[in-house]
Amino acid sequence: MLERLPELGRVLDALGEPRGLHAVGGTVRDLLLGSPGTDLDLVREGPVEELAGELAERLGGRAVLHGRFGTAVVTYDDGKHLDLIQARSETYPEPAALPVVEPGTIVDDLGRRDFTINAMAIPLPDGEVLDPFDGRGDLERKTIRVLHPRSFLDDPTRIFRAIRYESRLGFRMDHETEQLAREAIDAGLVRRLSGPRVREELIALLGEPEATTSILRMAELRLDQAVDPPLRAGLNAVQRLNRLRGLAAEYEVDAPAWRVALETLVEPGQGVDALALTKHDQRLVEGAPVTARELVDRELDGADLADLAARHAPDAPLLALAIRDDPRLRDWFERLRHVRLEVTGDDLAELGVREGPRVGEILAELRRRKLNGELDDREAELAAARELVADE
Ligand code: ATP
Ligand code: MG
Repeated sequence: MLERLPELGRVLDALGEPRGLHAVGGTVRDLLLGSPGTDLDLVREGPVEELAGELAERLGGRAVLHGRFGTAVVTYDDGKHLDLIQARSETYPEPAALPVVEPGTIVDDLGRRDFTINAMAIPLPDGEVLDPFDGRGDLERKTIRVLHPRSFLDDPTRIFRAIRYESRLGFRMDHETEQLAREAIDAGLVRRLSGPRVREELIALLGEPEATTSILRMAELRLDQAVDPPLRAGLNAVQRLNRLRGLAAEYEVDAPAWRVALETLVEPGQGVDALALTKHDQRLVEGAPVTARELVDRELDGADLADLAARHAPDAPLLALAIRDDPRLRDWFERLRHVRLEVTGDDLAELGVREGPRVGEILAELRRRKLNGELDDREAELAAARELVADE
């Protein structure tokens, strides 16, 4: 079976001998589903630091070690990477806190995982699938199932993961797993997660092609209202996001999929501090819904529209257009956003304007007129500039 993973061949050659490694998690799941990715998740019963270094050297890449113990990422060939971790057991001192980690066996390691379909291993170089929780059965039944009833209490991020796999694979949580997810959500456990952990889950969930399916599921489980900040998932958001994605493709808008998706879920005026986004992302995620509403509601001339649209561009005008198909906003995407003055400060200097604030003022006025369609070409811009200078 492992021969279906061509990438693994190279890694095995580089290893030379088996060294107690197993392929695990997503690697095994995707292999059994017949859609092997390029991600390699490997577990070793024993330390991995040295092995990671050796592998990196032989593959011509580099190894980065993480965390308290036993986690390494080997990156090679420009973008390929493999995760190498030491088999461990985990115990959760309290709900939603980070686990206490100790070295363990491969079976311990499978027992700390999120779902049965992710809790299988294949010994390298090739052996029988280790499958203590009947992950294979659940793959056939297209089921997402937790390993034990405390799973979502230990780690509520798994609820986001369950939804992500449901949507991506076209699977469904079994009745008990869904019940447990609802209980954890209704008990407020999601709010106990740190902002960065929620952020990472939202980015992963909203960044996938099937994000709209996940958004509906979030609403159904009331997960949207259970996070800080509260979000509003639902049919409205999904319809908006579908239109928004079409528009983003049409106008070749370059904004991360997760971010514009999040903006369809955030209520205008809602702060998103808790998510600890980068300054840039936070400004857009908070600003775009507010600015989009203004763009939809207000009567604006070309210049004012361009100024407002630019405030949280490209997200806000995109969101506004997804809310209401407005020809003025289409005009912004097709034309106005590309408008640049042809005259420059040098031209003004030639007309006798000395350096100083007046230069910026005249250029701003010219830009305003150009955006309002009053100036067609460089000649018209120069004529208007002359007039403004003469009026001094
Ligand atoms: P993807 O295709 O999205 O990468 P994946 O299954 O490889 O899916 P990762 O997030 O890369 O997911 O994690 C690798 C493996 O680690 C998972 O398959 C799962 O077994 C385990 N894992 C990840 N996150 C958790 C978690 N919160 N709780 C338990 N196990 C987890
Ligand atoms: Mg993975």
